[in-house]
Amino acid sequence: MIKYACGDIVDKVILIKYGELSTKKGNRNFFIDTLYKNIESKLENYNVKIHKDRARMYIEFLDKDLFFIKNVVDKTFGIHTYHIANIVHTNDDEIQKAVLELVQKEVFSTFKIDTKRSDKSFSIHSQDYNRVLAGLLLKNIPNISVDVHNPDLLVKVEIRATESFIYFNSYRGIGGYPVGTQPRGLLMLSGGIDSPVAGYLAMKRGMILDAVYFEAMPHTSIQARNKVIKLSKRLSEYSSFIRLHIVNFTPIQEEIYKNCREDYCITIMRRMMYRIMEGLSKKYKAYVIVNGESIGQVASQTLVSMSVINSVINVPVIRPVACFDKLEIMEIARKIGTYDISIIPYEDCCTVFVPKHPIINPSIETAIAEEEKFDYRSMIDEAIRSVQTIKIISNSNEEFSDLL
Ligand code: ATP
Ligand code: MG
Repeated sequence: MIKYACGDIVDKVILIKYGELSTKKGNRNFFIDTLYKNIESKLENYNVKIHKDRARMYIEFLDKDLFFIKNVVDKTFGIHTYHIANIVHTNDDEIQKAVLELVQKEVFSTFKIDTKRSDKSFSIHSQDYNRVLAGLLLKNIPNISVDVHNPDLLVKVEIRATESFIYFNSYRGIGGYPVGTQPRGLLMLSGGIDSPVAGYLAMKRGMILDAVYFEAMPHTSIQARNKVIKLSKRLSEYSSFIRLHIVNFTPIQEEIYKNCREDYCITIMRRMMYRIMEGLSKKYKAYVIVNGESIGQVASQTLVSMSVINSVINVPVIRPVACFDKLEIMEIARKIGTYDISIIPYEDCCTVFVPKHPIINPSIETAIAEEEKFDYRSMIDEAIRSVQTIKIISNSNEEFSDLL
């Protein structure tokens, strides 16, 4: 345990290796700074010290917070691998004492010591220090031996100017790029399994995400809305916060079902959603739309349907799960913690008005002719104008904060 002059005490450190970031030559500092800011904001309620250099980031923290800090690191994009290390002052006696104490708690029969001196003023050369520490362990722990090729326990010792790190473990981070290294995208977030996974994968590329939920009260319930809020909260753990925009879709949906051919209702409904998404992307300065469409999954996701639907807008649409099987999507949903929320059975605006035989090969001409049967343009403007926004913050205990 190290006591700093300022009185703060930290006894553990997480050493982060950036991984894929290191291939970004010109942007490297921007990527590292963004990762730093993301971690700083996620850990603002904890007693931590964060430092960064070009190769590593260090989060020093109290042992009692390990569980929470690890959970945050495990959900931060831009981290390739990390280690949890103990900190001691850089002096021979303290390092030897700590290495022995820590190794004695481990179960192993072969080991290797790997010392690195980033501070060359430490008088003993790394190779020599490997021998010193190995000798110490062999003398004090029975029935162990050195194996430099395939040891059960690899003891890493990093010697820095004032403090040194000792660790044995290596954990995989979730990779990707830090959120904020790409500008904003707008996720179409329903209560289903696919769209939260699509959102996760988009954030993994560094995108800042706002979510948009199309609601059709009273045909859909408040529970359906709460489910989407819960999904947003889960997704916000991977960024810091998510703004959720809720669109009142009821008037448009009712007009569609009053006026249009039944088999075209879903096609037209989705063309309306896309038009609203384009308006919202201008309103919230987003560059792309992201959704959970998967080729061939339902009638509205055949390639013909997708092209007829997509043709109403010019904003690019990213479909991260377009080529995944449902089982593959479900596997990611379980891993990221959205699956259990998605399977809670509440109706969605797409499921309350399902026609018996939705068209799988719609024609653009028919879609246009059908939707011209009511004045959708003013309704779209109104839907965009009347959007309600909720800011959902990952480290807040509240279910969601007030409407903005
Ligand atoms: P499921 O997992 O059951 O397929 P889903 O959310 O993927 O659920 P789909 O009917 O396949 O539902 O819709 C395709 C995509 O359209 C969704 O992934 C989502 O991005 C978007 N979408 C559908 N309904 C809504 C909605 N009510 N609000 C926002 N986006 C929606
Ligand atoms: Mg789907």
